[in-house]
Amino acid sequence: MSKLLTKLSLKLWSDPQQQQAFIGALTEPQPYSPCIAWATERSDEASFQRVDALPWQLPFVDRLAVGERPGKHELHNQGAYYCLDFSSVFAATPLTAIKEQPNVVLDLCAAPGGKSLLAWRLLQPHLLISNEVIGKRVGLLISNLKRCQINPVRVLSADPSVLADAIPASADVVLVDAPCTGQSLLAKGESAPGCFHPVSIKHNAKRQRRILANASRLVVQGGYLAYMTCAFSEAENERVCRWFTRRFPHFAPQPVDALLAFQSHLTDMPCYRIWPQSGLGAGAFTMLFRRTQETEAIMPQPLDAWLDENARWSSE
Ligand code: SAM
Repeated sequence: MSKLLTKLSLKLWSDPQQQQAFIGALTEPQPYSPCIAWATERSDEASFQRVDALPWQLPFVDRLAVGERPGKHELHNQGAYYCLDFSSVFAATPLTAIKEQPNVVLDLCAAPGGKSLLAWRLLQPHLLISNEVIGKRVGLLISNLKRCQINPVRVLSADPSVLADAIPASADVVLVDAPCTGQSLLAKGESAPGCFHPVSIKHNAKRQRRILANASRLVVQGGYLAYMTCAFSEAENERVCRWFTRRFPHFAPQPVDALLAFQSHLTDMPCYRIWPQSGLGAGAFTMLFRRTQETEAIMPQPLDAWLDENARWSSE
């Protein structure tokens, strides 16, 4: 694996210092500040030591001093907040470029629920739909949404192609927090077998393209599509976005003012990356698109009736 990691570092960086810093962050993981996203207003009961907020940090997110264990606090059980890697907050930050309150937000790859919570707090949609295709992951998704009292939300468990056929052009915002090689898991001291292998990278990139193609059909005219991964390889990230813009020219890349300092050095498109050697989190890639042109007339579908029949769980 280390040969493949070295090869990846050479592809990503021309500067030997950056290559070493990147490899070091994955082979000798350092502790990061734990991070929480408040589902409710901040509570005085939480006496956590906080780290100064960064300029782009979402207002309902706190980074805590290394050593704090927010997952053990009673407020966590009560659903006051959700614990997540700060890179997840970074990946969701393009949603700050969306100024209109959406009617429907659809989180297409939702379990265990972190991005659903961030999108719900930030955008306050009239309806959140959280979809998780892998059946055995749906229980954890529902339990997190219930614990944090996210409302109104409906949970589905369907392949994105099924949703694209059944309820096309139904969401103002679609999130694709795509399944990926999970290379950033190493920066958290977790394992991700085969994550640097070319076959695995190719398989994941192909799956991401398929999900994005279906996701594109779910976005209303004028709506948004956010794509993110927790992988580093260019094939899974920038190249997937390049493919998407060519294949779906009616989606325009959207710059995100809050993240300009994080522009990927691997492309001119407005793609943003946080690297594991930044010390902020395990790492992530993120990009936002907007459906700017109509392609073909799409018959609006009776969304509520379809959800009534197909939702696995509803908050109300
Ligand atoms: N958004 C989640 C969060 O913030 O907590 C994390 C999502 S994780 C990166 C990717 C998810 O995509 C996994 O839950 C996985 O089960 C799901 N997935 C796997 N294959 C998929 C597919 N073909 N279509 C859609 N989702 C898929």
